[in-house]
Amino acid sequence: MPIINNTKTDPNKILPMKYQWARQHYKNGVNNNWTPEEISMQKDVEQWKSRTVLSPTERRLILWNLGFFSTAESLTANNIVLSVYNHVTNPEARQYLLRQAYEEAVHTDTFIYCCDTLGLDPDEIYNMYETIPSIKEKDDFVVNLTQSVFDPNFTTDGVDNIQKFVRDLVGFYVIMEGIFFYAGFAMMLALKRQNKMIGIGEQFEYIMRDESIHLAFGCDLINTIRTEFPETWTPEFSAEIGTLIDQAVALEQRYAYDACPEGLLGINADQFAEYVEYIADRRLERLSLPKRYHRENPFPWMSQSTDLSKEKNFFETRVTEYQIGASLEWD
Ligand code: FE
Ligand code: MN
Repeated sequence: MPIINNTKTDPNKILPMKYQWARQHYKNGVNNNWTPEEISMQKDVEQWKSRTVLSPTERRLILWNLGFFSTAESLTANNIVLSVYNHVTNPEARQYLLRQAYEEAVHTDTFIYCCDTLGLDPDEIYNMYETIPSIKEKDDFVVNLTQSVFDPNFTTDGVDNIQKFVRDLVGFYVIMEGIFFYAGFAMMLALKRQNKMIGIGEQFEYIMRDESIHLAFGCDLINTIRTEFPETWTPEFSAEIGTLIDQAVALEQRYAYDACPEGLLGINADQFAEYVEYIADRRLERLSLPKRYHRENPFPWMSQSTDLSKEKNFFETRVTEYQIGASLEWD
């Protein structure tokens, strides 16, 4: 009874379960519940409106990241609902996809909240994925990779089609959520460490925590398909995935230099590019593919800052601790 292509599966019978990992990701997601309105934007608004607190470099980086994420979250949500959900027939995996779709709605809501509270021009922010080349190229790369799956006649029958579907999963889970989000995460959390835009920074921490589960689910899904349909995972296919990761890393590095050409206090622009390579190797490892970059993590604080309950206690910015259950693997 494979996870895709299972005409015998009754999608309404979730018990007994076959894929316990899908259930675990669902529970981890529920334990991480949050909404953007719980986080105060008061200080962010003061800093944004003041003409002296933020440098032009910092303002640019904030705008670029709001511009990228505001539409990237919707792109991801649409891919889950309109493509992935159709082809993954297993009920516990679908239950997770429903949870993930909800979390993407929360993320989309976060950027509505940021635009509203900071008084940004929505036409500017929501058009950046068309007007800013370094953002557009990332979105186009993922969309092109996933186009064939959106054909209404597409099925996941046969080696060719399963490879197309896995390409979609790699495009969204590994590249979009696993690589294209990470220069932005590092920039916004670096700002927060300097006490700038701490409300948005905290929202990015919550988003990053959610995304690390999305990524883990996506890799488990890809690895399950690989195990169940080993004939699809040819040496050529695995080389192709390596090439896609290389191209994605180049696009994310270009984006990082464009968003933050001069670096930030204590961080030079090259370090964001190095971080992207470090992150990409972690993704390759998860797919049991050879590492390509062999970089040290230039931002060891990134893995610490995702340990939210610890940090919340330290700064006491929140009364509620949502992370009540399972421990998560951060990167
Ligand atoms: Fe998201
Ligand atoms: Mn996501």
